Amino acid sequence: MTKSILPNSTIGIIGGGQLGQMMAFEAKAMGYKVIILDPQENCSAAQVSDDQIVANYDDLEKLIELAKRCDVLTYEFENVDAKAINEVKKYTQVPQGTKALSVTQNRVSEKDFIEQSGFQTVPHVVIKNIFEYHRGIEKLTAPVILKTIRGGYDGKGQILIEDPDDVCYADIEELLMQGPCMLEKKINLKKEVSVVVSANSDGQTSIFPIIENVHRHNILHLSTCPAQLSEQASQHIYQVGETLAKELELVGTMCIEFFVSDDDEVFVNEIAPRPHNSGHLTIEACNISQFNSHIRGVCNLPMPEVELFKPALMVNLLGQHLENAKAELNLHPEWNFHDYGKDAIKENRKMGHITVLSDNLTQAKQAIENNPIWRV
Ligand code: ADP
Ligand code: MG
Repeated sequence: MTKSILPNSTIGIIGGGQLGQMMAFEAKAMGYKVIILDPQENCSAAQVSDDQIVANYDDLEKLIELAKRCDVLTYEFENVDAKAINEVKKYTQVPQGTKALSVTQNRVSEKDFIEQSGFQTVPHVVIKNIFEYHRGIEKLTAPVILKTIRGGYDGKGQILIEDPDDVCYADIEELLMQGPCMLEKKINLKKEVSVVVSANSDGQTSIFPIIENVHRHNILHLSTCPAQLSEQASQHIYQVGETLAKELELVGTMCIEFFVSDDDEVFVNEIAPRPHNSGHLTIEACNISQFNSHIRGVCNLPMPEVELFKPALMVNLLGQHLENAKAELNLHPEWNFHDYGKDAIKENRKMGHITVLSDNLTQAKQAIENNPIWRV
């Protein structure tokens, strides 16, 4: 049994975006002190924390300073340098370790890991140049999606190739200049779902009900819970969640994204070794949120069984939505409104979200879809 890190101890969080902010809210509510490391002064997470170290994520000296000042260190995003984490481990506990980080930072090792664990990924090939690109297209047949192997998020670093005779080679060359890429068969999606799992250092887990996700322009738009799935698909997805948590020696929260094809086949898309946008609805809809379970995990507190109190829907507020949503906030008592307090409003930047609890999800969804706020 690993010792628990109790309230009044200090938690250091690398990364100060909305995920760090929601982790900090939970930690503060439980009585922990929180220090954020982020290059942006007064970032989202720092606004609700005790202190901030303003530094780049790869500034080893500052990371060591953070480590020395806290009892436990965690991170809110996957592009933390695993080498730096190993270095700061000398000064404080980093229970999340680096296995989940290093496996998921790279689409190739991520897909290999999923397959080695016995689960299905979409057909894919790794390509290093235009010659291999053509071979890949022949093998997979269009439509395909070209993706960078590292650093992609919200569809960034991706090119959809519907018709190989009508592609912009300059765009493809540009992605390839960044290093090897992955060519993936585009699946006819019936739906996309995700499952959030958390674990503590003693190996206890909390697994959240499956969430159904709708993306727009590759950015998450709407999540609903519970997901509408066959019993068989659900069982399979929970099994993937439990198995991958064990294999990755998970501590804290992770989320696994899935594709469900037209003929009900389940493919594992990718793994986020941190809380996930689709899990935001757990804040209001469940007995514990994905952030609460993350803090429990890294502090090695007991992991409760998750209960969904009420069906829920979460819709993102991007830069183009935020001000309009605020303007009609007083019309919507049903909205649980979240604004991350980011300084710059940019198109397609995640600025906040709204969660609605409802016994009639179809109706709640309709209300969002009919609202002009989300038509842009
Ligand atoms: P990111 O790292 O940007 O989240 P993803 O691989 O999850 O990248 O892709 C973003 C979205 O693009 C997915 O959620 C899905 O809607 C769509 N997409 C990606 N790959 C495929 C695929 N092989 N088939 C169908 N849709 C896909
Ligand atoms: Mg994704």
